[in-house]
Amino acid sequence: MDPKTIAIHGEGKVHLLGGAITPPIQLSTTFDREGDGSYPLGFSYSRRNNPNRDALEEALAAFEGGFEAACFASGTAATMAVMQALATGDHVLVPEDSYYGSRAMLREIFPRWGLQCDLVDMADEIAVERALKPNTKLIWVETPSNPMMRITNLRNIALLARQIGAVSVADNTVATALLQRPFEFGFDLIVHSTTKYINGHSDVLGGVVIAREKTNPYMERIRQIQIHGGAVPSPFDCWLTLRGLRTLPYRVPAQSAAAAQIAAFLSSHPRVEKVYYAGLPSHPGHVLARQQMQSYGGLLSFTVPGGQKDALAVAAACRLIRRATSLGGVESLIEQRSSMEGPETTTPPNLLRLSVGLEAVSDLTQDLNQALGMACQL
Ligand SMILES: *Cc1c(COP(=O)(O)O)cnc(C)c1O
Repeated sequence: MDPKTIAIHGEGKVHLLGGAITPPIQLSTTFDREGDGSYPLGFSYSRRNNPNRDALEEALAAFEGGFEAACFASGTAATMAVMQALATGDHVLVPEDSYYGSRAMLREIFPRWGLQCDLVDMADEIAVERALKPNTKLIWVETPSNPMMRITNLRNIALLARQIGAVSVADNTVATALLQRPFEFGFDLIVHSTTKYINGHSDVLGGVVIAREKTNPYMERIRQIQIHGGAVPSPFDCWLTLRGLRTLPYRVPAQSAAAAQIAAFLSSHPRVEKVYYAGLPSHPGHVLARQQMQSYGGLLSFTVPGGQKDALAVAAACRLIRRATSLGGVESLIEQRSSMEGPETTTPPNLLRLSVGLEAVSDLTQDLNQALGMACQL
């Protein structure tokens, strides 16, 4: 089925009371047990599973073209579960400009657990091969990366991971299945912060790990961590996220088309130094992105002449575009990124990240134009 149809019907048959068309929110933490000790509907206790989480997991697995999904209370909890499924002494390779929270986790939490990690430029395949170790058990990619919008060759990295017997994981939060399908390039697992595009309305945190195949021992461990670790989303979180998914196939292409127009506008603006967006022919990953993506997504970054102060001034002068972190919502958000990422950041201080929402492009470009003009007078 087409993703548009899966977004509406992907959860399959759910247990409905009174013939409701939309799934009820089932807040019960515990479920009826038969006299013989069995659970006839398969639900026993809400941390283990519940109807709303089952529905969301089924829909997200179908949407990415995978076999099964495990939902978590945040994208970070999903990433954490992937890392916790490794063993002491294992080595992981992560992009040097991966989501800063994922890097912080690997730097600050996992060394105490004996997990080794190296950061590498995933767009440089020679550097990736050089960084491999005999104990490399996992390769993580994020493409387009955030906020530098670098493009990684999905096919080559999946192949490389397979050759060395490592698990390949794609954080597909920024592209979503609408624009890019990592399983079709051979990836084993896909991770999303569903907080972003999938929910799409900036009102619920969530994460998911999706496995391509049924027989994936790694996914079995992730499921154990979900149930015994307990970082699970509430039934209401799952309900909201599933509701967000319904319109994802209409939101993402619109946001992507708007971002392409805004990237073109910014590229020719005299107060903009450089635009980072794979849809621009000048972007080093443009040709590759055209091969492995449907379009280039709703997120872009740009630098302005000067430093952090100058970038903050542009964000401060925006009137329509809201100043906030995060991405993928219906409202456009701008942020001076490096100050959000903290002292370990490698993001240029004069970089602004823009998550393009669903407002009219003309209103957004007008706001950016006046903000760039105002900031340069300060
Ligand atoms: C936001 C984000 C995360 C973390 O997700 P949370 O839901 O905030 O915990 C991970 N990866 C990417 C690419 C993100 O944008």
